[in-house]
Amino acid sequence: MNNVIVIRYGELYLKGKNKHYFERILVQNIRRKLKKFNCTLTVGRSRYLVENYAPQDERAILDALLCVFGIHSLSVAVCVSNDYETVKNTAISVAPTKGSFRVNVNRADKRYPYTSVALAAKLGDAILAHNDKLTVDLHTPDAAVYVDIREDGTAYVYGKVIPALGGMPVGCAGKGLLLLSGGIDSPVAGFMMAKRGLRFDAVHFHSYPYTSDQAKEKVIKLASILKKYCGNIRLYCIPVTEIQEQIHAHCTDAFMITLLRRAMMRLAERTAQKFVCGCIVNGESLGQVASQTLESITVTNDTVKSMPIFRPLIGMDKQEIIDIALKTGTYETSILPYEDCCTVFLPESPVTRPQIAKAEEEESKLTDYDALLNRAFDNLEIIDV
Ligand code: ATP
Ligand code: MG
Repeated sequence: MNNVIVIRYGELYLKGKNKHYFERILVQNIRRKLKKFNCTLTVGRSRYLVENYAPQDERAILDALLCVFGIHSLSVAVCVSNDYETVKNTAISVAPTKGSFRVNVNRADKRYPYTSVALAAKLGDAILAHNDKLTVDLHTPDAAVYVDIREDGTAYVYGKVIPALGGMPVGCAGKGLLLLSGGIDSPVAGFMMAKRGLRFDAVHFHSYPYTSDQAKEKVIKLASILKKYCGNIRLYCIPVTEIQEQIHAHCTDAFMITLLRRAMMRLAERTAQKFVCGCIVNGESLGQVASQTLESITVTNDTVKSMPIFRPLIGMDKQEIIDIALKTGTYETSILPYEDCCTVFLPESPVTRPQIAKAEEEESKLTDYDALLNRAFDNLEIIDV
């Protein structure tokens, strides 16, 4: 008797003729996760099986699979001889202890002496006879017992279904560029887009020496946590120190953040173009702070013309965002108290309803704005996380 892990995928079913494309990427992502274990992955028509692994690796394999977008649920099945008595006893052992249930039988071996329906009924009766606290409900059961009769004389029997991340396999939706700060929101924004199949590089803006090396380390750490779910992440670090100093020296104080955000967006667009990213992603949430009012977002949004900016958190409350950060494991790192560039030269009362024309007028006070952006971009540093 040994165990196998059953992997089910969800939404890919909806993809019609493209299904194979999505499946290929999902299988690739699963294989990458399983590389460090001694096991085999069998790719079936509607689900996959992880077999031949050491029992002590089971928990770690499940944990690894629970980080793969595109997997809908997992089960650990017991693999037994498919003679009726053995199957019956195993089914009884995995059945729930109370509530309603049904038995689902899948019979690959058509020579098996019972049809699927007959075997399900027979096993259902046996389970009921063993535990009178249970009832059968074929339509809306609280739990199910699954039995797969296989062609090699074995059967897989299992009861528990472990919900997984769902979503789409990372990579199937192309590549984007995530604006990654050291805060709580942006790692969650990356996670949400990865859930829809987006692979991404990340860009971080820093104001060294006003911001510390530790602040940068923190961002690298966040990217390395996200990697577990999102695949390899390339991090671009761009200094905006000089841009901030120039804005501080020449422009109206209240516009500091607005102008910095516009500069960041322009640099992000250039980075995305250079490294072939098709969209920009950030962690903005409507009304969260002065730089995220509708007017502020309009003014920063205006600087990017060649690609969409996705804001997966736009309609979420802070607590909802925190809950996801806790689940993904980025929260603890995000709350470490290092300075972000946005906190350098912070004005006392930033504008909350800026206008595009006024922002442009402020930018015209900077001597050679383009050269300023070019110098920042020339100092882009690449870190493979
Ligand atoms: P917090 O959790 O503190 O809100 P945040 O990362 O969301 O952190 P905001 O000031 O709300 O910080 O910034 C909005 C968005 O702008 C961020 O989610 C991020 O995508 C982007 N951003 C802000 N600062 C930086 C930075 N230094 N480098 C890269 N992106 C940044
Ligand atoms: Mg935020």
